[in-house]
Amino acid sequence: AKVTRFAPSPTGLLTIGGLYATFISERMAHQSEGIFYVRIEDTDKKREVAGSVEEILRSLEYVGLRIDEGMIGIGAETGAYGPYNQSSRTAIYNVFIKHLLKQGLAYPCFCDENELHTIREAQRSVNATTGYYGKWAVHRSFTLPQIKQELDKGKPYVIRLKSPGSADRRITYRDLIKGEIELPENDQDVVIMKSDGIPTYHFAHAVDDCLMGTTHVIRGDEWIASVPIHLQLFDVLGFTPPEYGHLAPIMKMEGSTKRKFSKRKDPDAAVRFYREQGYPGLAISEYFMTLINSNYEEWRMSNRAASYTGYTIDMNKMNASGALFDFNKLNDIAKNTIAGLSSQEVYRQACHWAERYDRELHVRLITHPDYSMQIFNIGRNSDKPRKDLAKWSDVPSMIDYFFDDSYARVMRVAWETLLATWNAEEANLILERYEAVFCVDDDKDAWFAKLRTVAENHGFASNAKSYKNNPSRYKGHVGDVAMLLRIALTGRTHTPDLYEIMLVMGEDRVRGRLKSFAA
Ligand code: GLU
Repeated sequence: AKVTRFAPSPTGLLTIGGLYATFISERMAHQSEGIFYVRIEDTDKKREVAGSVEEILRSLEYVGLRIDEGMIGIGAETGAYGPYNQSSRTAIYNVFIKHLLKQGLAYPCFCDENELHTIREAQRSVNATTGYYGKWAVHRSFTLPQIKQELDKGKPYVIRLKSPGSADRRITYRDLIKGEIELPENDQDVVIMKSDGIPTYHFAHAVDDCLMGTTHVIRGDEWIASVPIHLQLFDVLGFTPPEYGHLAPIMKMEGSTKRKFSKRKDPDAAVRFYREQGYPGLAISEYFMTLINSNYEEWRMSNRAASYTGYTIDMNKMNASGALFDFNKLNDIAKNTIAGLSSQEVYRQACHWAERYDRELHVRLITHPDYSMQIFNIGRNSDKPRKDLAKWSDVPSMIDYFFDDSYARVMRVAWETLLATWNAEEANLILERYEAVFCVDDDKDAWFAKLRTVAENHGFASNAKSYKNNPSRYKGHVGDVAMLLRIALTGRTHTPDLYEIMLVMGEDRVRGRLKSFAA
């Protein structure tokens, strides 16, 4: 069983790439019957953005990730390895800092900004790598009396690791995604505790990953450069390091070129974007699965009804280069996802989304639950279910013409559209004749027969083919009558099945619209 974690720093919105890595971590844990936990890395209070933890947790919940341990809500946590936010774990880190100090594996450094600057200048002048290391690490060799002297002066200090490494040597490790990786050893005496007594990310990360039993870490490849430091920290602490897998960033297309998402410039870089647009969380998960393993789609074809969790992801088959985020693909998957839901479930999820993101829609849905469900049910039970909804924000424009107030808004425009191809009197005459024979209890055959009769009585062909074969004999055909009705009843030229629409609209509404349309 694997133990994986998501360890976000609460510094803003969760990115789609961050969620992707987290999704993979969760899958790894749960497909091995292991544990997936969430730890909040809030050691850098200056960079913290209020509300981020809430925002991040909401994004995990959105795609339905199950958190076994950790922060699960604001101020709420579960699991026996807490606290799960690093700012509450200072006492734990102190134990390990003391241990390293005692063993001479760490030391206090009293250098202030000026002194560090002077060291960097000196390094630059001889073309040496800048940083605090080797012979440049001036406080490394302070004796106890020297340290005591500085402390007595009340000088602020940080604690640094006394790095046993040398940049001339190389380390190798096997990355779960990228394979064998070789990097220079860490020779920097990195800060492990800041002057305010708070540990740095690197240090807290090592202590927590060990104490919380982490076996596998999946994260963005911007962290590869830190692996030598991390492995060294595990080593000096006497811990077994987890296995690491580093993901290349998710790319998007701009015109015909691939580029990275920009956290600052692309709204769609943030998970929040997809939540606000109302993509079902399940569609995001399904889409992630197709990005993770290319044979997932094949599996999906032969396991249509199964949950994606039934597929076991294979880390060895993952693409080491950055996955391309394809919006068209996501939309297709989202449409299929919604097409697979019952109308009750569509109603429930649309309401849930609208409650937060579209008050007007929410009011409409909860005021007319049965009517709304009937609308969502149109075309749902055919062998070719309709796929016109990719996200809940598509709902208002999909259902608006069923409601009289919004129909009234589009009716005039529809009439204008109609006049582009119809003569007003003729259109009125046909609608009137149709209204006279319309009966809401007709089955589909009877319904169509009536359309045909109206068409014939008007000198139209009773099917489109006979019109095509002999256009000089007919003025139009039954399809034109249906289109006329469609425009009159919905204000649109494209809709799902007209017969079903009329059934749902009901007798009074259909008659009322037919009568008032041309008036
Ligand atoms: N707190 C780090 C971050 O925000 C975690 C990196 C890691 O997963 O080790 O990205």
